[in-house]
Amino acid sequence: RLISSKKMSSQEEKQEHALRPKLLDEYVGQAKARGQLEIFIEAAKKRGEALDHVLLFGPPGLGKTTLAHIISRELGVNLRQTSGPVLERAGDLAAILTNLEPHDVLFIDEIHRLSPVVEEILYPALEDFQLDLMIGEGPAARSVKLDLPPFTLIGATTRAGMLTNPLRDRFGIVARLEFYTPEELTRITTRSAQLLKVNIAPDGAFEIARRSRGTPRIANRLLRRVRDYAEVRADGHVTREVADAALSMLDVDHAGLDVMDRKLLSAILEKFAGGPVGLDNVAAAIGESSDTIEDVIEPYLIQQGFLQRTPRGRIATLSAYEHFGFTPKD
Ligand code: ADP
Repeated sequence: RLISSKKMSSQEEKQEHALRPKLLDEYVGQAKARGQLEIFIEAAKKRGEALDHVLLFGPPGLGKTTLAHIISRELGVNLRQTSGPVLERAGDLAAILTNLEPHDVLFIDEIHRLSPVVEEILYPALEDFQLDLMIGEGPAARSVKLDLPPFTLIGATTRAGMLTNPLRDRFGIVARLEFYTPEELTRITTRSAQLLKVNIAPDGAFEIARRSRGTPRIANRLLRRVRDYAEVRADGHVTREVADAALSMLDVDHAGLDVMDRKLLSAILEKFAGGPVGLDNVAAAIGESSDTIEDVIEPYLIQQGFLQRTPRGRIATLSAYEHFGFTPKD
């Protein structure tokens, strides 16, 4: 099963697919990653070689999968998509690798979750385009070497630090995706609204954009919910006021924080006196996994200056106290 394990309904996945930009020129923001890729893609094409292996990292929903598809389209090759947890046995990966055509892109989402046996197979495949397989067991076991076509691996992960060093070292191109500015997200929201035929005012698009946690997937999701609200309450016309009312109904506050963001911050403020508090303790206090806190919730709160990560634990900043109307201790 070459499916990715993102928690989305198939309906949502389909809608998201429709909003995906297809070319590098349509891909908004991420100027640094885009600029580098533009050059490396053109150089690989000129030389008639496979593009070097690419590692994309950054929080969920920032456009890693989208970028992988764009890279393969710009290269004019096929993309095969799978994910770390799906590849359980060495044979799973071998089956995919031996079916690649020259210069194809293999996209592995959540690459930090590859099993060690699969990772072991991947090293020689990445370095020498060779597959070293063990066939059989016990004394009858023998190793077989197979040549693979030159291909490009694109790996995606939420945190580059979760990769083993030998795996990370095998990527020639490493791009970190950043949170989007409200202006960039306004462009994305406006484009999505056009595709979905939503009647939206510029200030309506901006209101959704600035309350979307710097994340295109969230902007697109909120746009669909705001559209529902507008169709029922405002003749389908999304103004700033309509967007504001819909977002408040969805529990997205004026700073753009959602329920989980506020749960995390208020736990640190109220239960741990503002911190410092260890990750596992906050996780237990709010009933969320440490991984979700580190990968999904925290990065945006840190980027927005509500939270600090220190060697002694998480600390709520002055902005967090102000946001909740609390007075900081001493
Ligand atoms: P990730 O793989 O990082 O979790 P995705 O590539 O699935 O994120 O992106 C989520 C959605 O956000 C996509 O369906 C796409 O419509 C939108 N999106 C992401 N990045 C951009 C971008 N730079 N410009 C326009 N839309 C984007």
